[in-house]
Amino acid sequence: MVDIDLPGMLSSYDTKNLTIATVCSHSSLQIFNGAHKEGFKTLGLAIGEVKRFYDAFPLGKPDDFFTVDNYKDLMKYADELRAKNVIVIPHGSFVEYLGAKNFLTFNVPTFGNRQVLQWESDRDKEREWLDGAGLTMPKEIKDPRNIDKPVIVKYHGAKGGKGFFIARTFAEFSKRVKRDRPYTIQEFVMGTRYYLHYFYTPLQNTGYKLSKGSLQLLSMDRRDETTIDELQRIGSIAELEELGIHPTFVVTGNIPIVMRESLLPKVFQMGEAVVEKSLELFGGIIGPFCLETVVTEDLEFKVFEISARIVAGTNPYISGSPYSDLIELNLSTGRRIAQEIKYAVAHNKLTDILS
Ligand code: AMP
Repeated sequence: MVDIDLPGMLSSYDTKNLTIATVCSHSSLQIFNGAHKEGFKTLGLAIGEVKRFYDAFPLGKPDDFFTVDNYKDLMKYADELRAKNVIVIPHGSFVEYLGAKNFLTFNVPTFGNRQVLQWESDRDKEREWLDGAGLTMPKEIKDPRNIDKPVIVKYHGAKGGKGFFIARTFAEFSKRVKRDRPYTIQEFVMGTRYYLHYFYTPLQNTGYKLSKGSLQLLSMDRRDETTIDELQRIGSIAELEELGIHPTFVVTGNIPIVMRESLLPKVFQMGEAVVEKSLELFGGIIGPFCLETVVTEDLEFKVFEISARIVAGTNPYISGSPYSDLIELNLSTGRRIAQEIKYAVAHNKLTDILS
């Protein structure tokens, strides 16, 4: 459970003078750029020395930096951050660097609902949520002796797909698995990958309305993963595996993409179901989230993961995407977050979107 006194923290805040802060990594350039566009001050949380590459991007550079020796030390500086009227925007690296436990008790107002972490980081709870929302997930293989078609083996908490591997038989699985690490075995879904970037506002009832608030689709991407995505340049995976060369799934970048338009109704249905189920389970997923999907040759979506905050796949769209252009020009996910905070300040609803 999240044990944070949000109203207490906000009572000392000058809400006309907020500072948007995030950890200097992942999607920080976009978050700072979006916050500036909406008139906020920005603060970059960095370790050691400030990274020089921000100098190369003046429109993505925060107004100020707050440096600590290591990210976990941020816990000690919560009071100082609150004195600066800081609102933290969490992203994947932020949660990873701070540690999930620390994140849940970090005493600084944070955009979004922190409860979601427990539903997203535990694979069984994630399945309960997404299955419960009626989404189709890849089949899970409980007993590896039942492997009779390609599967992907995923280690729990693995960063960026590290260590994941494909197996076609029990023998292959046994040869490669590291039994000291908890893992999940999923059917390897064949098809094309789409990472769908949504934004849910519990505050505003315009556009695609839900039982409470409304849902936007801001963009989508495909992750570029080394080495799997380029292996075919030197041979088939089967040939390479015979030589002991195994594909890996480590994310190195993101590629912009659009989807055939006839699939968009399904995209909205899925997003809607995920939000409605989250309202029922834990008070709602607030702000940006991403469904990671494979579309099969029968044009069916299989959802293999949810990320419950801004994903780095939104980075190609600092000046908008083919979808957000149809909502408002120049609308990135980072900017959309800043807009939500601005709206909440104007309507005295900050406690509805922070935790
Ligand atoms: P994840 O950590 O679950 O996001 O998985 C890392 C990468 O593995 C994904 O970006 C996909 O390329 C691939 N992947 C994960 N699950 C599946 C699946 N069930 N079928 C096919 N590819 C998958």
